[in-house]
Amino acid sequence: MPELPEVELVATSLNSLVKGFTILSASLIRQRLAPDVTPEVFNLLITNATINFVHRRGKHILFDLDNSKTLISHLRMSGRFSLLTADSEDPKFTHAVFHFGGESRLTFDDQRHFGLMKIVETCDLHAAEEIAKLAPEPFSDDFSIKYFREKLLTSKRSLKEFLLDQTKVCGLGNIYASEAMFAARIAPQTPANELSAVKAKRLFESIRVVLQEAIEHGRRSGVDPENLEGGYFSGEGKRGWRVYDREKQPCVNCNSPIVRLKQGGRSTYFCPRCQKK
Ligand SMILES: [Zn+2]
Repeated sequence: MPELPEVELVATSLNSLVKGFTILSASLIRQRLAPDVTPEVFNLLITNATINFVHRRGKHILFDLDNSKTLISHLRMSGRFSLLTADSEDPKFTHAVFHFGGESRLTFDDQRHFGLMKIVETCDLHAAEEIAKLAPEPFSDDFSIKYFREKLLTSKRSLKEFLLDQTKVCGLGNIYASEAMFAARIAPQTPANELSAVKAKRLFESIRVVLQEAIEHGRRSGVDPENLEGGYFSGEGKRGWRVYDREKQPCVNCNSPIVRLKQGGRSTYFCPRCQKK
């Protein structure tokens, strides 16, 4: 699933591509993509609305419209937006299409069928179920070391599982959780409430560093308007991960083999030498 930096790249790309575009009509092809409404209502709610701003909250992409509504969308496993012209066919598994003037259109396709859309009043966005429960944005003042320590103390779960909980820390998934714990030199099995103040501060800072690095890496990589997916860009090319998906490969710090561990059904990668309990 795309994590904060990937969703950030998709949202900022969409903003530069479709901001100011007016939706002439919207086709909800797979109704379960937006389970709260019928295709007729979906179309009615956003037809003739102009896209004011596309941004992100957590891993949700938000289209603020000029009719006081916001379209919330989540890519989940395989959702993808494509800005297409009249000459291009809809991608396979297209579940929604937003038609603009000049025969351009934005499609949402989703091979795995886990994507979600929802239309809410913009003024009620903060209260929408998906948004209300999210932890503060990691780069906001609300996400402070004080907040982070308080939340750590409420959880007996492993640090890895704690970091994936979007109500505690927002935006991390399997990859950036592993990368942040590696950067902070902390064992992923540590119970959250047993983390010392010093380590908590180190982890807090590492979360911001790994996310920021990945966001900047994303900004430098070009995007294809016809393929706005949440693919992991940081693992590709020269940069690569420091620890994620590197089982049995040498640690970049100490050359010890990286170990893969199953936590909450998901793989965690770590260096047992650098990340001692
Ligand atoms: Zn190491």
